[in-house]
Amino acid sequence: MKKIGILGGGQLGRMLLQAAANYAVETYVLENDEHCPSAHLCTHFVKGNLQNYDEVLAFGKLVDVLTIEIEHVNVEALEALEQQGVQVIPSAAAIRTIQNKILQKQLYTAHGIPTADYLITQTAEELTQHQAFLPAVHKLAKGGYDGKGVQVLNNQESLTQAFNEPAVLEKKVAIQQELALIVAVSTQGETAVYPLSEMVFNPYLNLLDFQISPARVSQEVLWKAEAIAIKVVKALKSPGLFAVELFVDANNEVLVNEVAPRVHNSGHHSIEGNACSQFDMLLRILLHYPLGNTQSLSASCLVNILGAPNHAGPAVYQGLEDVLKMDGVYVHLYGKTHTKPGRKMGHITILDKDRTALIHKANKVKDFLKVITQ
Ligand code: ADP
Repeated sequence: MKKIGILGGGQLGRMLLQAAANYAVETYVLENDEHCPSAHLCTHFVKGNLQNYDEVLAFGKLVDVLTIEIEHVNVEALEALEQQGVQVIPSAAAIRTIQNKILQKQLYTAHGIPTADYLITQTAEELTQHQAFLPAVHKLAKGGYDGKGVQVLNNQESLTQAFNEPAVLEKKVAIQQELALIVAVSTQGETAVYPLSEMVFNPYLNLLDFQISPARVSQEVLWKAEAIAIKVVKALKSPGLFAVELFVDANNEVLVNEVAPRVHNSGHHSIEGNACSQFDMLLRILLHYPLGNTQSLSASCLVNILGAPNHAGPAVYQGLEDVLKMDGVYVHLYGKTHTKPGRKMGHITILDKDRTALIHKANKVKDFLKVITQ
């Protein structure tokens, strides 16, 4: 049986393991916390640090093919494993580029891929020379995640919030719409593109709040988004599953924001909403099977289940029964015992061929379900 290793044991790893149950594979997970969402679903759990060279190297030697559920992993160990014949998908080189927002932006520039104008800064002090560039968004080159490591700098006064580490200073885009496009790349270089998703963010928590797929966009925006996403994955020259996050600006121009080299929150609806889910697709890539069908089976809405504000402690899912009574509503809880404000505790996919009914149901779900403590 083929041995698949996953670096990271959070909810993404958990859903990948659920899909892996359909294949004859042995699964290995590396994660620091033995109570993580993936621990009880894998064949072999290894406790260890994703950032530690020796621990990632030793883990990689146990498997035939290695993948990631988070990009903040020790990339030097992945490079060593590749040299020793372990297949790493996505490639260590692609992960190295994506881990660093400066390298990511430079890749877009080098390949003529539209992206917001930017400068590279090393210290906070340097920003005083770039006031003409404001309003802008300052993004830490390394280590940012889920909106942490991103600071909006609207004016001179906000410069006190600038990062004093290598970062990208990006022009603030007048965002009309945020989109995400998942592209699968097989080990033979074939590609399959998912239908475009349209996101709505929660401005208070800076997290994806609500998503509709397929997105309601013009044909022109769709074509631009697909062309950009394909260019991004070709530039990365790696097999894998990639989520390309895009902005549509006030002039209907499409810009790439960033890319995640892994299964992604923006693709969770694909479990019920598409012929082949993003998790099944990644397994096909890891196993060298033909790519699956990305076709949308129904319009779908994705609602993240986030910890309610002011509640931290053992999680209680208030209103769950009301949600479970609804038709076309699929609940996914990640098995995290403790909640905190804004923590991703699960997601819900809603399917409905009628878009008005879909959005109505999504709002109802959001109204009913609250993750609180007792
Ligand atoms: P993360 O890697 O933490 O997810 P992102 O780079 O995706 O960070 O930024 C988080 C959010 O900040 C985006 O979804 C978008 O709403 C906003 N944002 C990021 N870059 C810009 C920009 N150049 N102009 C305007 N808003 C931006």
